[in-house]
Amino acid sequence: MADDSLAQRLLAGDKRALARAITLVESDDPAGWELVREVYPHTGQATVIGLTGAPGAGKSTLIGALIKLRRAADRQVAVLSIDPSSPFTHGALLGDRIRLTEHFLDPGVFIRSMANRGALGGLSEAALQAALLMDAAGKDDVFLETVGVGQAEVDIIDHADTVVLVLMPGSGDSIQALKAGIMEIPDVIVVNKADHPLTDTMVREIRGVLSLAPQRGWRVPIVKTEAVRGEGVEALVEQLEAHRAHIVEEGTLSERRRRNLRNEVLGLCTFRLRRGLEERLARDEDFATLLDEVVARRLDPASAATTILERFDAGEAA
Ligand code: GDP
Repeated sequence: MADDSLAQRLLAGDKRALARAITLVESDDPAGWELVREVYPHTGQATVIGLTGAPGAGKSTLIGALIKLRRAADRQVAVLSIDPSSPFTHGALLGDRIRLTEHFLDPGVFIRSMANRGALGGLSEAALQAALLMDAAGKDDVFLETVGVGQAEVDIIDHADTVVLVLMPGSGDSIQALKAGIMEIPDVIVVNKADHPLTDTMVREIRGVLSLAPQRGWRVPIVKTEAVRGEGVEALVEQLEAHRAHIVEEGTLSERRRRNLRNEVLGLCTFRLRRGLEERLARDEDFATLLDEVVARRLDPASAATTILERFDAGEAA
């Protein structure tokens, strides 16, 4: 009954209900999963935009400027800031992110951060559920902010309808990562801190990299912004809208969402299988013995894995 009313309040856009719901999901409370199940049919309405880039590139400043424009257009906004590199901000609000504080009191803006929960797949799982809850709460725009450094973060960003890579002049590493294919080509590239003298050099370098990438239907725009002054942010909004119109028209939005949902389901399966396996093995004395053999170099790891899985298969068949 209590959960019902939480779902109702969430669907009505109640900020505190949304905060509570995300906490439930984040702490892996079964009530959180139940809630997501209940409100899921109401999701799929929000425009999900992922912003990624190295720390200090200006993502939060840019999001602050984007919020201002989106609010002026009377849109409800949510921000989910995912920071896997910081274990200390678990469950915390972005209170320290001074650049977003002016929006905290606005009932039309919801801001939340999430950090690594240590469990493999745990963070992206929780982040995706949180994004769904934001969507269900009637947010028109959901911004997912991640630090673009490794594979796990990329996973989360993949769930956005539009992916924006935020770079700053002089950040050669990001260019290298794009060139090497470590970082997937985003939908929109922002060169922030356009007040920097190396801005145009950076734009030229990015053009060079993009010209080598396989051409898809969409031509990746490079938008120069100066987030602190809000310069170029309108042009960014235009490109975000253009990209969305493009994927809707081309039919790739639904394709993308199908692919993303497939990955989400697979991700959840993988996460649960691993957790189940770990739980079983923790109680399994033979596993410890087997591991001793591996440590003593009498058995190789792959053979040990085969033995374990064969035994489980036999156990399940019995
Ligand atoms: P994030 O780590 O990517 O979220 O980056 P932040 O938004 O925290 O910005 C990092 C620093 O860059 C802050 O000190 C910002 O004030 C500054 N900054 C952001 N945008 C600009 C810009 O357009 N020009 C200049 N010069 N500094 C900026």
